[in-house]
Amino acid sequence: MNILSDRINNLAVSQTLAMAALARELKAQGKDIISLSLGEPDFNTPDFIKEAAKKAIDENYSTYTPVDGYVELKEAICRKFKRDNNLEYKPSNIVVSTGAKQSLYNVAQVMLNDGDEVILPAPYWVSYYEIIKLSGGVPVEVPTSVESDFKITPEQLEKAITPKTKMMWFSSPCNPSGSVYNREELTAIGKVLEKHPNIYIVSDEIYEHINFSGTFCSIASIPGMFDRTITVNGVAKAFAMTGWRIGYIGAPEFIAKACTKMQGQVTSGANSIAQRATITAVEANPSVLNDMVKAFKNRRDLVVELAKEIPNFKINVPEGAFYLFPDVSYYFGKTLRGKEIKDATDFSMYLLSEANVATVTGDAFGNPNCIRLSYATSEDLLKEALKRIKEVLI
Ligand code: PMP
Ligand code: GLU
Repeated sequence: MNILSDRINNLAVSQTLAMAALARELKAQGKDIISLSLGEPDFNTPDFIKEAAKKAIDENYSTYTPVDGYVELKEAICRKFKRDNNLEYKPSNIVVSTGAKQSLYNVAQVMLNDGDEVILPAPYWVSYYEIIKLSGGVPVEVPTSVESDFKITPEQLEKAITPKTKMMWFSSPCNPSGSVYNREELTAIGKVLEKHPNIYIVSDEIYEHINFSGTFCSIASIPGMFDRTITVNGVAKAFAMTGWRIGYIGAPEFIAKACTKMQGQVTSGANSIAQRATITAVEANPSVLNDMVKAFKNRRDLVVELAKEIPNFKINVPEGAFYLFPDVSYYFGKTLRGKEIKDATDFSMYLLSEANVATVTGDAFGNPNCIRLSYATSEDLLKEALKRIKEVLI
């Protein structure tokens, strides 16, 4: 008899975290590894947020919080949704959780029954697939490619819908492709969903502010979509607070209530100090992020320019987040330096062993032709990493 459950035995390890751990291990062994694996800002959390946390400690915010989050935080999140997204959520629509990852997990757990289908435009963020499966859902991948800027068309969506479709999950700006859906594209998706009133949408907007396209649209702001959208966001990326572990949703009240019930049994709520600091973060004018966003844009420009010089990489120009997702399928079936490259995983491992550069295979994101490079690191390291990659491919 298995001692561990089928549930955990059937769960894949998070490949982003696994690659980051492997890069760390090789570094500890003395190898000169450049890690472009993990999607995590290399900036420090802004001082004004750190001060708010210190104050919260001194003011003894040390007890359990309300399960769904401090009321002051939920009110601040409502003002943020209004200010940035033109969405009219009430505090009863908000649930604060231990990272956006837990927000997503809650939603899957409270909405999916065994066999419910969830449409995932691919590439999708690595954990969607496993979270959905873990909750009994069936991920239905809708493939896209570099040629279509990794965006799905309304026709593709229509075709993927079956009587079992319960939800669609997507991120914009997208991890891993960096694509940003504009209002027209979301309106076209909304038109398809209008005909299927029972389908709910998870809109993961965690990269909202790391966006160089000049426009941002929440699908919940498209007519007819508000009452069937769960808008997911958090402070990890925009405010360089990955370790603070705060994410949140805006959702119809019955879904918010269900998520609160779930987390009441699982975590009792998110960390009190991090919640107080998050009030300060979400109340801040997004212009405080200008310098960081500018740095990301410069890096994006740099990485795109350097990647264009790498033979046979096919790339889109990512408009947001901090990833490049080149199609490297030209190399499949070839042998480089005595190593056979069958697929994207082989290619990524080849870059690790020959160039000492850690990336993540596109397989982790539902796209077997690509690899993901995170450019959340210094320009000097990016230049060196892309130089090394180029050298082992010619
Ligand atoms: N969604 C996407 C698209 C992400 O890239 C991440 C980053 N890990 C998350 C959700 C989870 O964010 P958090 O760190 O707040 O759990
Ligand atoms: N979102 C980041 C990434 O995709 C963090 C890793 C994770 O949470 O899996 O690399």
